[in-house]
Amino acid sequence: MTKSPVAIVPPDVSIRNEAGEVLLFSWPEFVKAICEGSSCFVCGRPRAGNTFNDEHIVPNWVLHAFALHKKAITLPNGRQTVYGNYTIPCCADCNTEMAREFEDVISPLVRAGGDAVQNHVAGGGGQHLFTWMALIFLKLHLNDRRLRKHRNFNDGDDPISVDYTWEHMHHLHAVARAFHIGATVMPEATGSLYVFPIDAGERDFDLLTITDAQTLYLQLGRTGIIAVFDDAHAATTRVMWIIEKINGPVSSFQARELAVHFAMANLDLVNRPRFWTQVSADRKDVLIGGATGPEPLFRQYDQALFGHLMTVAFPVLPEVAGLDRDQAAARLASGDMNFLLDDKLEFVSGHARKSGFKADKGS
Ligand SMILES: [Zn+2]
Repeated sequence: MTKSPVAIVPPDVSIRNEAGEVLLFSWPEFVKAICEGSSCFVCGRPRAGNTFNDEHIVPNWVLHAFALHKKAITLPNGRQTVYGNYTIPCCADCNTEMAREFEDVISPLVRAGGDAVQNHVAGGGGQHLFTWMALIFLKLHLNDRRLRKHRNFNDGDDPISVDYTWEHMHHLHAVARAFHIGATVMPEATGSLYVFPIDAGERDFDLLTITDAQTLYLQLGRTGIIAVFDDAHAATTRVMWIIEKINGPVSSFQARELAVHFAMANLDLVNRPRFWTQVSADRKDVLIGGATGPEPLFRQYDQALFGHLMTVAFPVLPEVAGLDRDQAAARLASGDMNFLLDDKLEFVSGHARKSGFKADKGS
């Protein structure tokens, strides 16, 4: 399920402004300082000689709002750690800047509940929220370099991130830190963002990453947010027919399935955008853009890929009427189970879900 990277190769030497701030990371410096070193992941300053404080990967106010400090997060290798300990090195200045730019704006919206986050996006805050999601996705994956990949130590001690191709992360990093250097980010350089209401009941926080598809799903209270970071909005185009069927709040399980549809659309995108960063000759302006085809082209629907992604999204299976655990797992893995739409491809509403999850055969 790996898609081929399409990115313009970064320069051999990082481009800095007169003050010495990095405007565009070279490939070697990005890998050495940001991916594999201990420099601040935003500005790139080294730990030595600078004040560092740890930045929570899931922002601290989210941990407070949903009482997550002592709860466990499942890592990409299947092991668990406690959210409150899940931090990444970041210099104090960048930490303060991110709090002011993002957390101080998004936190009151989430706490306000209802449509506040959707209204933020509708009012022009889409790129702001997208960047916030990009920062979380980036932090989640940069942090994995310090974690063992294999649960069984006999399997070797490569970090989880040995499976990542850092070139996918270079563009994401440029977009996520654009705020810090005042870069202009064109819409084609970003990706899909979808905000939607979630039913009360099952849980009030959820987080799912589908790494190869650069897809992050977050549930914050009754608000669901899905972001795809490298599709130049193509995934939204493909998933639109499903979104148009949804005529009410979705369940937490349905939200995870919706994230799978976005992820799959991104993996199936054939004519991938080419991303670039341009620095003006006077080193004052930075522009991050992307080139796309006239319209996105997708591979044919592959049920086996859908099944694979569903097993990633549902490590714990919801109860399915009439099926025992093994039968349900087999059907999920075959790609023949979904929670969003019924046999007639109509939305399974909250009313229909009340007697328990109804899993219907997909298209
Ligand atoms: Zn910094």
